[in-house]
Amino acid sequence: MSVLSLVIPCCNEEKTIDIFYDEVLKIQDRISADIEFCFVDDGSSDGTPAILKALRQKDTRVHYIIFSRNFGKEAALLAGLEMVKGDYVATMDVDLQDPPALLPEMWRIITEARVGECDCVATRRRTRTGEPPFRTFFAKLFYKIINRISATEIVDGARDFRLMTRQMADAVINDREYNRFSKGIFSWVGFKTHWLAYDNVARSAGQSKWSFIKLFRYSVEGILAYSTMPLYLTSYLGILMCLASFLALFFVVLRAFYFGDPVAGWPSMVSIMVFLNGLVLLSLGIIGLYLSKIYMETKKRQIYVIKERV
Ligand code: UDP
Ligand code: MG
Repeated sequence: MSVLSLVIPCCNEEKTIDIFYDEVLKIQDRISADIEFCFVDDGSSDGTPAILKALRQKDTRVHYIIFSRNFGKEAALLAGLEMVKGDYVATMDVDLQDPPALLPEMWRIITEARVGECDCVATRRRTRTGEPPFRTFFAKLFYKIINRISATEIVDGARDFRLMTRQMADAVINDREYNRFSKGIFSWVGFKTHWLAYDNVARSAGQSKWSFIKLFRYSVEGILAYSTMPLYLTSYLGILMCLASFLALFFVVLRAFYFGDPVAGWPSMVSIMVFLNGLVLLSLGIIGLYLSKIYMETKKRQIYVIKERV
């Protein structure tokens, strides 16, 4: 029988782990594989590690990693993927927003497909009900922008809830980027993906770790990691400004030649200077952002540090 490994990042999830575990037990008979759990505790400050240990006592199919501190969900996903040996691997959240009830259907699709026809079953939310409208607006805007400027497709509403073959999981692991943006990595590695849409589900318990600011930063990460368009844009803008300034110079010289040069127009001068300096700073900022990413990549720091592994 083949093995299905579930990779589950957890950060302060003491309330949701047991609910998640029970939900998976409910559907395990509908999957013709041995299921193993791999929880990754991402530096929780609550009772999450204790709950994982208790679960392990009860069920030896439960494995876990405990990080030395919080490294972020992306790092936790990588650590989990590296730990498991299953023939199939699923990555999912512990808060039931990635419903385990979908797993049997995903399993059916990936195992019944003809060889090479489906390497991954991915999920996307059809709706965003329960989310603040303001957040929905910016999320939609983000997907519009990134898909315009990036060659890698980032599907709107895609979750990190995926069931994939060993081969695809290995490809994801082999991507050793420090600045990890999973939605991009899953898409970048390629393979045949089948999309499954479902309605948004509210968290089973506990709280989301993503504030608006965090999401904003995450979207900037995504853009920096999967597009160099902002750099091109600043160059184009520079060229455009040069052309405009030539035209303006021409105009000023001609005017002085024909009508003399009464000293006037310092307000317009100041406006132009402020505007141009703003543009220069913006461009420098964008270059700086890319530079900071290069800096972090060249350091080759560890992506995560494990304190305990069972
Ligand atoms: N998570 C994590 N590390 C973090 C933040 C979140 O491992 O620094 C986990 C979290 O425990 C959950 C999943 O990532 O299993 C999704 O987090 P959350 O539900 O807070 O995000 P949302 O669903 O609101 O986007
Ligand atoms: Mg969630």
